[in-house]
Amino acid sequence: MPHHDVLVIGAGLAGQRAALAAAEEGASVGIISKVHPVRSHSNAAQGGINAALNPEDSWESHAFDTIKGSDYLGDQDAIEIMCREAPGALLDLEHKGVTFHRNEEGRLGTRAFGGASAARTYYVADITGQAILHVLYEQLLKHDTVYRYEEWFTTALVQDDEGRIAGAVTRNIRDGSMDLFSAKAVILATGGNGQIYTPTTNALICTGDGIAMAYRVGAPLMDMEMIQYHPTTLAGLGLLITEGARGEGAQLYNAQGERFMEKYAPNKMELASRDVVSRAEQTEIDEGRGFPDGTVALDITVVPRKRIHEALREIVNVGRDFAGVDITREPIHIKPGNHYVMGGVKTDNDGQTDIPGLYAAGECACVSVHGGNRLGANSLLDTLVFGRRSGAHAALSVKGLLPREPSYAQLRDEERRVAAIVRRDAGGRRVSEVRAELGATMDRYVAVFRDEDGLRIALDTVRRLKEEANEAGIDDKGSVFNQDVLSALELQFMLDNAECIVVSAIERRESRGAQYRTDYPERNDDEWLKHIDVAVNGVQPEISYSQVTVTQWEPQERTY
Ligand SMILES: Cc1cc2nc3c(=O)[nH]c(=O)nc-3n(C[C@H](O)[C@H](O)[C@H](O)COP(=O)(O)OP(=O)(O)OC[C@H]3O[C@@H](n4cnc5c(N)ncnc54)[C@H](O)[C@@H]3O)c2cc1C
Repeated sequence: MPHHDVLVIGAGLAGQRAALAAAEEGASVGIISKVHPVRSHSNAAQGGINAALNPEDSWESHAFDTIKGSDYLGDQDAIEIMCREAPGALLDLEHKGVTFHRNEEGRLGTRAFGGASAARTYYVADITGQAILHVLYEQLLKHDTVYRYEEWFTTALVQDDEGRIAGAVTRNIRDGSMDLFSAKAVILATGGNGQIYTPTTNALICTGDGIAMAYRVGAPLMDMEMIQYHPTTLAGLGLLITEGARGEGAQLYNAQGERFMEKYAPNKMELASRDVVSRAEQTEIDEGRGFPDGTVALDITVVPRKRIHEALREIVNVGRDFAGVDITREPIHIKPGNHYVMGGVKTDNDGQTDIPGLYAAGECACVSVHGGNRLGANSLLDTLVFGRRSGAHAALSVKGLLPREPSYAQLRDEERRVAAIVRRDAGGRRVSEVRAELGATMDRYVAVFRDEDGLRIALDTVRRLKEEANEAGIDDKGSVFNQDVLSALELQFMLDNAECIVVSAIERRESRGAQYRTDYPERNDDEWLKHIDVAVNGVQPEISYSQVTVTQWEPQERTY
């Protein structure tokens, strides 16, 4: 049985940053990833990372923008921490070797991003996530107390008799063997759950595994109804056109040639918060002013061609390869699409969950710094700031603790569960079919606009699909790289996530941030300025509430 002081599950930016911080505090660290670490989804991050580094900018301004962006649901103490630590986190990356863009004077250069009152987004062309991920991975390799388990898939967390987290059960994808890992603390850094929607900007691996594993051991989830639809995704495919394009000056038009954001956000126009822009686009489309393919147009041709090739070169490729459009010469059709989960495993400002020994960081966690709507380029920041804090806190908190001895019975249970999936008859409904119905249902009923009737249909469907997923057959009966069995396990994680999202969306009877209820179109601070927490009770999710922390910014009307 591998023993570690701190076990990090997930090797994207949050997981790698947490592992580094834990190792720097002297802990022995195991870091597990179901894909090679540099193929983690953080690799896809395009536009950049926010920090109020410029002397004319301030952390207070960054914090206020984030709070307003969150529609006042974000916890202001956590947001203050994130925005205060942002400049240090950014410079630390630069010193570690991230080649951020420099302007003509040779200084770190910024681009504008949505909902921000200053241009404070630092970037590496439109491959910012990839650039940071590779540098962090190089740093990890330097630590001989960090053990990497690459292409291992965690199926469940394990607890000791007192309910403290004691490790995890993990399957070696290469040969199908299962192992019990012992750890004094476990940090979940498993990323988002975009795959429960079809289409999505998220990679196939974003299936909400950690969120579901935490939920299954009783950790509350928070703000799960807050699902971000990004304003600029390719119809059908869901591929992202970075907000960096609008940051560089790109404009949105409907099919009648109107720059429609004038009506919805006359001051910020295309750079209003994402929820505002997505609702504006969806309204244009629903009211018949979109194109026949259910889209509006993003015109990037207003950006000088040299600048497009310098700062948006991946988007040039995406436009050409996936839409047949040369974005330097003609507008590209886009629509709002699933992108990010603001909610996740409820944590304090050091990443601690309600379960002793269990931490969460990054997109799978809800600190909550994004509240009802995340500002672009604040997620990479969240992964680094709270990844570091979780890693350091976990390492310090387990000093002096004896190694945990989790029971092998929990390993045997998981082995039996996986063996039963492999034995299933492939004659029934297929995993991929259940997954497709889940994605279409969520995209239809739990999207930019929602109402009680649609949400009830979604809940009934998700609960039926949960039953079907327990029977869904797989073809591959082998043990080497059996992706079929992993898909079946992921589907069950995804359905737990989906159920919590829908139950929370039904519960919040108001419109705030990404949750727009057509049957409750107003924000209602008197009754709903609170977080919705959801925890498992038996097999069903149970709702409770927690307070939103307000430090110095009282809720105001939100206009852009
Ligand atoms: C296309 C796109 C562009 C984006 N651009 C930006 C941007 O410019 N700026 C910004 O701030 N944000 C951006 N975001 C959001 C941001 O990239 C993500 O929120 C962030 O990278 C998530 O990082 P993470 O470390 O939490 O998770 P991830 O990077 O998703 O890593 C998750 C890790 O968990 C592992 N894992 C998951 N489940 C298991 C399991 N069962 N067993 C073992 N390992 C497991 C995976 O292998 C992976 O290593 C973008 C998102 C998308 C989709």
